[in-house]
Amino acid sequence: MGTILDDLYNHEGYGARRLPDGTLTATWSAAAFDAYVAACGCGWHGGDHPPTEEGYDAAVDEWEHDHARPLLGTTVPAEVSEAIADVKEAIRDLSRTRPEAARRVLDNLGEWAAVHRTALATGESALRMQAALQRPVQPDRGSPRRL
Ligand SMILES: [Zn+2]
Repeated sequence: MGTILDDLYNHEGYGARRLPDGTLTATWSAAAFDAYVAACGCGWHGGDHPPTEEGYDAAVDEWEHDHARPLLGTTVPAEVSEAIADVKEAIRDLSRTRPEAARRVLDNLGEWAAVHRTALATGESALRMQAALQRPVQPDRGSPRRL
């Protein structure tokens, strides 16, 4: 049983054992081994560490620091992916019956995305990003159509 980070379920980190012939194994039954090697269930592996308990911990630490954390930084959480899919479906449904309303939602999302992307790229304040996030789609007040 290795180490798994939340939202990164396809990457299980552990200290593989380097056998005298150079092969790596995840089995604990290997009696003689030369080193622990940082390893991941996806096939990634890192450097060697002493064949001690501290070496095992160092291998798992290397896996987390050099492999798992960088991957986690680019992994979209499942609940976010599901929420986006739900929003897309709602907009698709809305577009069938009220295409102008769907266009307004898309305009709002596009504006929000542009502001949020800029804020992320420039390190702007979270306050501005939050304001953009919470801006609701304005109800139609009979103003001229914008395309
Ligand atoms: Zn991995």
